[in-house]
This record gives sequence, C-alpha cells and structure tokens, in this order.
Amino acid sequence: MTMAVIGFIGLGHMGGPMSANLVQAGHVVRGFDLGAEALEAARANGVTPVASAAEAAAGAEAVITMLPGGKQLLDCYEQLLPAAEPGALLVDSSTVDVADARAAHALAGSSGFGSLDAPVSGGTAGAEAGTLTFMVGGSEEHFHRAEALLEPMARKVIHCGGPGHGQVTKMCNNLILGASMIAVGEAFVLGERLGLSNQALYDVASISTGQCWALTTNCPVPDLVESSRANHDYEPGFAAALMLKDLRLAESAARQSGTDAALGQLATELYQRFNDEGGGGYDFGAIIRSIRERSDQLTAERPEPTG
Ligand code: NAD
Repeated sequence: MTMAVIGFIGLGHMGGPMSANLVQAGHVVRGFDLGAEALEAARANGVTPVASAAEAAAGAEAVITMLPGGKQLLDCYEQLLPAAEPGALLVDSSTVDVADARAAHALAGSSGFGSLDAPVSGGTAGAEAGTLTFMVGGSEEHFHRAEALLEPMARKVIHCGGPGHGQVTKMCNNLILGASMIAVGEAFVLGERLGLSNQALYDVASISTGQCWALTTNCPVPDLVESSRANHDYEPGFAAALMLKDLRLAESAARQSGTDAALGQLATELYQRFNDEGGGGYDFGAIIRSIRERSDQLTAERPEPTG
C-alpha cells in the first residue's frame, strides 16, 4: 500500500506495537488513547499523538480501533463518525461481543462508512513482530481494501464472512484454546499424581492424538517447550483475564444462539475461579497451578481408608 494517513485509537499492549509497525511501513499514523503514558510511548515510536478520537479520524483514509471492549468501541464510533473523512474505512481489531460488533457496523453504515470487524490472535508478541492473524468480517470489497493496510501488522489476513464473522471466528477459536489448555493441565496433573514423568507424557502426546497448541507451543509445564510462558513464571503471553473475557463472549453467544456448549461453559467457570483466586494477570497456562492445588486439597480432605 502506498503511504496513507491512518487514525489509530487505543494504543495499549496491542495497539502500541501495531501502530508502530504501521509507522515502520511508511504510513502517517495519528494516534489517540485516553492514557497519557500510552500516548507518549506511541510518540516515541513515530506516531503523531492527537487529543481525541475525532481528531485521529479527521483526514484519515482508514481508522483502526484497538480498545478493551464493545462499550468503548461504540462510544468511540459515536465521537469519531461526525469527524471522519468521506470514504474512510473503519477497522475494529478489538475483541468484542458479536452484537456490539454488528452495532458498530450499523453505526458506521448509517453514516456512510465502510467497516470491518478484524480481531486478532497472536498476542503481544505477534503485535510486536507484525505477525498477527486477522480474522475479518465484512463485505468482500472492504476486505480487499483493508488487506494492504493490515499487511505490516499481519502474518495472515483471513476473510471469515459478513459483518461480525471475524468476532465469531475469534470467539470459537478461543473456546477451543481455553478448553484445550484446561484438558492439557488436567492430563499433566493426573500423570504426575500417578508417578508419570512430564517428559514422557509430552513426548507421546505431542506426536499423538492429544497434540494441540496448548501442549506444543504454550505447554503449561515449564522446561518442555522453549516458547512456553511457563518457563517465565507464567508472565503473559495471553493473560488469564483476557481468556476469561473471550470465554464469556463465547458463553453469551452460545446462550443467545441456543448452542449446547457445555465445555465452553465449564471452561468459563474454571477461568472465572482462577481469576477470582488472583490468577488473572498470569498467562492462561498457569491454570495448571490451580488444578494441582485443588487436587492436593482434594487428597488432603479424603477420608483415611478404614479397616
Ligand atoms: P490494553 O488495555 O493494553 O489497551 C487498551 C487501550 O485502550 C488502553 O491504552 C486504554 O487507555 C485505551 N482506551 C480505553 N478506552 C478508550 C477510549 N474510549 N478512547 C481511547 N482509548 C481508550 O488492552 P490490549 O491488551 O491492548 O487489548 C486490546 C484489545 O485487543 C482487547 O479487546 C483485547 O481483548 C484484544 N486482544 C488482546 C490480546 C493480548 O494478548 N493482549 C490478544 C488478542 C486480542
């Protein structure tokens, strides 16, 4: 894509490095964040700080949002739509409820703007390296316009369907991830308690039918997989609080759509409990600690065998 003026709203853990990659690619990025620190950090990366969402959108041919949730997204759209340049494309990369994503599309459409929901996976490491996967919902035409724009931040940009389908894809993927991380954690703890070495379980499961990302890339047991956050005392990575957020979105979508997602519901409850116990700031793989502790507790509470 030739040089463009891009508005970027939400310069946090993800938006900060994403906007820096757009600057690196030669674009002029007008950035806004409610936090002064985030704005300063963005300035150091070559982003032009501005004082409001409306100012970020004024004169920009595309506006990217990377906000905590749907409420902030809809508030921002209310503020920026009157100031946005005719023909500007609005791309939201936050993870939000499908209903909020569709409400944002409707708001943009009613003001005459094209829009996409384009949540990402790949975490802060992917944001820094410019290797995120974008899951995009919206029209074919808008998707093609956005491809080159997203390219400096992406390894893959995939068109998933109409408005909201990017968020549906993200939610479904993270339902698989949350449930599989719990299953991997339970399997290791069960093995440990039966005297099996973690290495033996890893060597077999990683090349067998139990193979999955939660095992082979972000293994919850330290010292088995180089890329795992378990090797760094579970410093995220993908924080358990964000996993809980995504599982809640999946749970609410399952309820609204009448989907029987029993594992999704249970995974939400288990991550809720882990967050309540103070685990929210750790990588989501740290849930294995809670599985281990509860197993020890269960054993301690078990009545002594009689006779
Ligand atoms: P973050 O909290 O670090 O960043 C959000 C930023 O938005 C903050 O700097 C905040 O000040 C700013 N903000 C909030 N309301 C605003 C408003 N009205 N106007 C302007 N700025 C506002 O969060 P993050 O980790 O960067 O995540 C952003 C989004 O990306 C979330 O929706 C999250 O679920 C999603 N996500 C995060 C990760 C991850 O690993 N961190 C991975 C994939 C997706």
